[in-house]
Amino acid sequence: MVTTHNLGFPRIGRKRELKFALENYWKKTISQEDLLKTAAELRKQHWCDQSMLDWVSAGDFSLYDHVLDTSFMLGNVPERVRRLSGGKLDHYFRTARGRAVVDNADECSVNASEMTKWFDTNYHYIVPEFDKNTRFSLHVDPLLRQINEGRKHGFRVKPVILGPVTYLWLGKSKDDTNKLDLLDELVSVYAQLLNALEQAGCEWIQIDEPILVMELGQDWQHALRKAYYQLQTLPVKLMLTTYFGQLQNNLQLACELPVSGLHLDAITAKDEVARVVDWLPGHKVLSLGIINGRNIWKADLSKLLDWLEPVHAELQDRLWLAPSCSLLHVPVDLGSEQTLDDEIRSWLAFAIQKLHEIEIIAKALSQGRSSVSLQLEKNSAALYSRRQSGRVHRPAVKARMNEISDAMAVRKSSYLERTVKQRKKISLPLFPTTTIGSFPQTQTIRQARLDLRKSKLSDQEYRKLMQKEIETCVQEQEALDLDVFVHGEPERNDMVEYFGEQLAGYAFTQFGWVQSYGSRCVKPPIIYGDVAHTHPISTEWIQYAQSLTSKPVKGMLTGPVTMLNWSFVRDDQPSAQTCLQLALAVRDEVLALEAAGIGIIQIDEAALREGLPLRKSQWKTYLDWAVRAFRIAANGVQDTTQIHTHMCYSEFNDIIEAIADMDADVITIENSRSDMELLNAFDQFRYPNEIGPGVYDIHSPNIPSVDSIIGLMKKAAQRIPVDRLWVNPDCGLKTRSWDEVRPALRNMVAASRYLASHLKTFRVS
Ligand code: GLN
Ligand code: ZN
Repeated sequence: MVTTHNLGFPRIGRKRELKFALENYWKKTISQEDLLKTAAELRKQHWCDQSMLDWVSAGDFSLYDHVLDTSFMLGNVPERVRRLSGGKLDHYFRTARGRAVVDNADECSVNASEMTKWFDTNYHYIVPEFDKNTRFSLHVDPLLRQINEGRKHGFRVKPVILGPVTYLWLGKSKDDTNKLDLLDELVSVYAQLLNALEQAGCEWIQIDEPILVMELGQDWQHALRKAYYQLQTLPVKLMLTTYFGQLQNNLQLACELPVSGLHLDAITAKDEVARVVDWLPGHKVLSLGIINGRNIWKADLSKLLDWLEPVHAELQDRLWLAPSCSLLHVPVDLGSEQTLDDEIRSWLAFAIQKLHEIEIIAKALSQGRSSVSLQLEKNSAALYSRRQSGRVHRPAVKARMNEISDAMAVRKSSYLERTVKQRKKISLPLFPTTTIGSFPQTQTIRQARLDLRKSKLSDQEYRKLMQKEIETCVQEQEALDLDVFVHGEPERNDMVEYFGEQLAGYAFTQFGWVQSYGSRCVKPPIIYGDVAHTHPISTEWIQYAQSLTSKPVKGMLTGPVTMLNWSFVRDDQPSAQTCLQLALAVRDEVLALEAAGIGIIQIDEAALREGLPLRKSQWKTYLDWAVRAFRIAANGVQDTTQIHTHMCYSEFNDIIEAIADMDADVITIENSRSDMELLNAFDQFRYPNEIGPGVYDIHSPNIPSVDSIIGLMKKAAQRIPVDRLWVNPDCGLKTRSWDEVRPALRNMVAASRYLASHLKTFRVS
């Protein structure tokens, strides 16, 4: 017998039911009771969807975020929230997003907790806060209710909890409290928790310690040892789960911790399975995460069986099977897709299909391959079709890939020579002003897009409307007297999807939503084949904007690394390879813009940082190929063409050299919230080209004053020569309204003019 289970199921629902219920609740159009009812219905549905498994999970469902749920279960609610009136749910949403519902904004809004990326995924969790007053206490009822609910529906339930050491690791100390000093008290609350679960009749408990795949210092390794030795006296079976990477030097520790079972991500850590099998004490269960929980491809079941049969022969009943990680990171059900091409569909598996794959593998192991021969045959046929398909493999792309030369990645001259030529061609004042690309996505734009989709508007009518929007953007920028204009990006639904839709090799789903944070989801496109540029995508729009003004209009593109990191990528070739194909496609578009007379081109790399591997030792490899891809995309242009790039984050001290290596003439970055903190990076390292540190926090409705912008820019001028500084917002303005954008940009231009006349002679010493 092989036991099957799952580490977690997507919560959002096939049609994003949870998202809509949450947002309606926040808008007060539904009651709390309605919200909780939807949540319970979703849980029931999801358990039914997993009924092929021996164990289903409870506690993986969350109204907002499972780390936030853990904080509430451990009584770790920020003091500023606890002080406010209202019930538990109000406190919960205030911690997550600053307010519980819309209309009590004044009396009960607080600073939301910080949110950050969950390991190397695009899921964001609410960061636990610790300080010297932090105390823990157990609030287990919500979890017990979920467990009982699952049982009532007839399921064998295994609760899922986040482990104590990972919980501490993920949190942030708000004063100088050492997080590890909280371990003892935290572990004693975990002991109460496990006792409560045991008393509720739970046999197995899944306890997640994904930090076991990180580079851990001895203090954290010691904390893991201490925590689990203390918890081992309790009469429950713990399934210790790790995912998202290899254990490497934590392997022995993971095998030795006194628990009843260990889960290993057998996708990223396949090479370690043999060693774990050797190391693992004979009484422990080994759960192998054999199906990739991070992508949407069908697995090769026969190949998996070739590998697993000997493992099963050795472990017998001690072998459990699961996806590599929680299925939170993939869409729910391929069955929801109505418009996907049949051939491409046959290559895909979403959460439910992945669980069926586990069911087939388990049956093949327990009862022999012949018990599932039909399924195995279907699987092989699908994989064969994918391997052979002319839509996946384009000889012309492969030929071009072979011809890539190092010369393609370098500009004709150095930045210093280029900048002279560029300044001769386009004359700009000191402290030139520009924006990052998008202007407000108005109701008119959204309606037009909807009407186009419903065929209420013809393509021609839609284009006309978008041209009108561009006219408005140009007029606004004239009135504001900005120096480098943009067209405003009204025609783009999304910076990746828009380009992906027009490149060969990309497919799009209708319901392939994945939770990003809270009620927010993204729908990553699928790169299934060789990527090719087949026609100019942006030239017509940018040229139209340029025809309306004598100011330079900057052409806007999405860079290859961001296209890659925000898509589901192929698993049949290395990501670096796919990224290079994207780079060639973007390069074609850059050259098309240049040929169309556009002298400034911005290539956004909003997601470059997101692709960094979890372990620092692997950063260099990633940065090398990512930077090379950018350079191939950007560097085919003449010296006179100015290349800009943009990144949406401020922590880049640790990758500044790689960023400089991209050799863009100008880089714009996020900065205003960190008060130019990031410019500390320039104390050690001199950024060699031009830079626009964002001076307007576009995530906030606040209008920055002229003085505050001058203040920020003066700080920047202490580290960067003034003739290399630009003045711009943090990011695109698409989520703001014109009423906010106009005064903010007016102040920005005023600040720039002031600086130009007062700081002219200022130079860095
Ligand atoms: N050019 C894009 C915009 O302005 C950049 C968006 C981003 O950086 N996320 O919308
Ligand atoms: Zn940005």
